[in-house]
Amino acid sequence: MTVLNETHNPQLRSWVASANTEGCDFPIQNLPFAVFRVPGNPHLFHVGVAIGDQMVDLTAAHASGVFNDAGPLAQAAAQACCAPTLNLFMALGSAAWSALRLALSSALREGAPQQTALQVCLVPQANAEFAVPAHIGDYTDFYTSVHHATNIGKLLRPDNPLLPNYKWIPIGYHGRSSSIGISGQQVRRPLSQVMRPGATEPVLAPSARLDYELEVGIFIGPGNTLGSPVPMAQAEQHVFGMCLFNDWSARDVQGWEYQPLGPFLSKNFASTLSPWVVTMEALAPYRQAWTRDVVDPQPLAYLDSPELRQSGAIGIELEVFIQSDAMRNKGMPEHRLSHSNFRDAYWSVSQMVAHHTVNGCNLRPGDLLGSGTQSGPTEGEAGSMMELSKGGKQSMTLPSGEARTFLEDGDTVIFRGACTAPGAARIGFGEVRGTLLPAHPQP
Ligand code: MN
Repeated sequence: MTVLNETHNPQLRSWVASANTEGCDFPIQNLPFAVFRVPGNPHLFHVGVAIGDQMVDLTAAHASGVFNDAGPLAQAAAQACCAPTLNLFMALGSAAWSALRLALSSALREGAPQQTALQVCLVPQANAEFAVPAHIGDYTDFYTSVHHATNIGKLLRPDNPLLPNYKWIPIGYHGRSSSIGISGQQVRRPLSQVMRPGATEPVLAPSARLDYELEVGIFIGPGNTLGSPVPMAQAEQHVFGMCLFNDWSARDVQGWEYQPLGPFLSKNFASTLSPWVVTMEALAPYRQAWTRDVVDPQPLAYLDSPELRQSGAIGIELEVFIQSDAMRNKGMPEHRLSHSNFRDAYWSVSQMVAHHTVNGCNLRPGDLLGSGTQSGPTEGEAGSMMELSKGGKQSMTLPSGEARTFLEDGDTVIFRGACTAPGAARIGFGEVRGTLLPAHPQP
């Protein structure tokens, strides 16, 4: 794991005043990465680093010479950021990421001599259009919350909720990267085969059980060679950072298709990412000990390490909000549906990487891992509507008086995330939002 350094100092303040505001997601201790363009400007997407309600355009900053005195590693890192995706930068590895973070932290501090040069490289986030931050070659979705797995298992198999492999293997499936979009995505309600309760034959129909999944996304940095597993001790050196991730799911489609090979059309119609990728270095102050209950099987040796036990968990507070069309029209604010914390995941980021590669499978820079739905141990900590509505049996009432078991057309789903720890600044992930559109007419 990354050790704490001067960039994490909670006393640091930026000359960008909005970064010093209480509750700001992007103080100088965060410095997450995104790709953006300013609408109306025909240039390509640029890499940006958030600071307060602004961002540093790294292509402009590199050209201005602001990193000229920051050393060759930081300069090489900034050069790799002069691209329309983060893949080149992600491939460089943690020493380069860290050098650029220190250079940015120094240049953005109150009193920094670079202020004049860097000020003209700032773009207001409100003016920007964001894109998926990396070319995602491959995407794998895990199932790391034992609470979610148990809740869903109870609905599908009341006598046998948790399958016997769950506590031994970080379960996952290979998903589809082509339909991953960025916050603001408009998601069309999917058509597919469903077998309705009591029916003897399936029908082609719009999904009637459209759900979200509250997940974190994990971006891979340097890859591994095909045939060369990544051991636990090195797993996090292959991880660039994390974001928020909504893995939209059609539960009725999933229920009919998932055996024997797992989810297919129930998942591949859309998934939505938050624009900002918070680096593993920024997450260092929020690490916690990883524990495994003594009554549970302890991980096999290839999924265990001293670093895991000491600091393998990451405290990320996650929240889900909904705003229906009617709520929007009445000017009603978003309504919080639930919350959970990534520290409750049964499997860690390092275990996901070590397991994914133990058979020799190669990960590449920009690959995305989904954490799986993050539900916590208590009722209010459900990461999906399937769990909140007990499989559609218990409806929830929105502040507009509308009832919900699953999502309705026009609903906007918003996730937010933040990290807090004693003696550390609060940092946030921003948000991921997406809106459900009505299904297309049937072919
Ligand atoms: Mn998922």
